[in-house]
Amino acid sequence: MSEVKSAARYRPETRLVHSGTLRSQFGETSEALFLTQGFVYDSAEQCEARFKGEDPGYLYSRFSNPTVAMFERRMIELEGAQAARATATGMAAVTTAVLAPLKTGDHVVASKALFGSCRYVVEDLLPRYGIQSTLVDGLDLDQWKRAMQPNTKTCFLESPTNPTLDVLDISAIAEIAHKGGARLIVDNVFATPIWQSPLSLGADVVVYSATKHIDGQGRCLGGVILSSEAFIAEHIHNFMRQTGPSMSPFNAWVLLKGLETLGVRVRAQTETAAKLADALAKHPKISRLVYPGRADHPQAAVVKRQMGAGSTLIGFEVKGGKAAAFRCLNALRLSRISNNLGDAKSLVTHPATTTHQRLTPEARAELGISEGFIRYSAGLEHIDDLIEDFEQALEKA
Ligand SMILES: *Cc1c(COP(=O)(O)O)cnc(C)c1O
Repeated sequence: MSEVKSAARYRPETRLVHSGTLRSQFGETSEALFLTQGFVYDSAEQCEARFKGEDPGYLYSRFSNPTVAMFERRMIELEGAQAARATATGMAAVTTAVLAPLKTGDHVVASKALFGSCRYVVEDLLPRYGIQSTLVDGLDLDQWKRAMQPNTKTCFLESPTNPTLDVLDISAIAEIAHKGGARLIVDNVFATPIWQSPLSLGADVVVYSATKHIDGQGRCLGGVILSSEAFIAEHIHNFMRQTGPSMSPFNAWVLLKGLETLGVRVRAQTETAAKLADALAKHPKISRLVYPGRADHPQAAVVKRQMGAGSTLIGFEVKGGKAAAFRCLNALRLSRISNNLGDAKSLVTHPATTTHQRLTPEARAELGISEGFIRYSAGLEHIDDLIEDFEQALEKA
């Protein structure tokens, strides 16, 4: 196998196409799919050396695989990280990054506004193993400061948040975490690696659900943890090797091909989201619209400082609560009802009855997830078709 020279010195668009490519002796153009669980050795001596870590080859696809390695390398160079591990799903990435470095007696501070399953990990799962957690209003820096304890090892947030698209000040929260001797883990799914680089803002670890924009075509699940060489070596490498939340080579291959078009797709989807947000913001059937790219976003100044552009997502509240929101969702012809996001197809979801139905009505109200709230994920359709579709659907709301 020959490695394509590091593409790290190139711009992100170029890295997305070339970084990490390993070519076999056949000189294939497209990345090869090594659909194999294991590897054979030339001799018992070579096998012994490989298990001892003295021979650099592959051992077993739970530990490493050439196609997965290409995906990891491409993500490393895109994100500007030192090391990465690909995981089976985004939740495997979050759970591994949060849980693996901790032990009984440690403490975690996290923003309340988290993807439903992430909140389960922090709020319900960790305490069962004696790891306490405090949930704060992520926008309130004083709450972060007050929540820090001598045993706080990890701070965790996502920004923009799901589904209300609050934008948290990553640099300020990283500073609070570091002052307290803790690391900051950022779930960067909603921002995408195209518009936000948490490591350059002071975060220590970045996690993605690659299921979203990185695949971007609704085909497979995947995740990735990006960080320093030391964090991966000390906390992640052995945990993953022994417990097995690894990415399949097939999914790594799909996601590598997804990365090639990530920049083009996210730019087009962001432009669509921005135009649709402007078209809907003043609609008489909508009481509130949130889009990080608009000047009326509550954290517009933070958006300007830490993100390259708005987002591919819009949140809005239909007047008339759940019944009106359901009428709107059911009347849409192009934007399909689904809980995925970042897809080529425009998708809409009703968070109160799906991703956040586990929360009490009070907890939902606290997060601003009302009964009329709809989350829209921009696809690659023509903007005029999308606007026309929303106009006819809102008429029926
Ligand atoms: C989807 C998502 C996850 C979980 O990813 P899966 O690939 O579905 O396991 C985690 N965080 C955020 C913000 C997400 O949108």
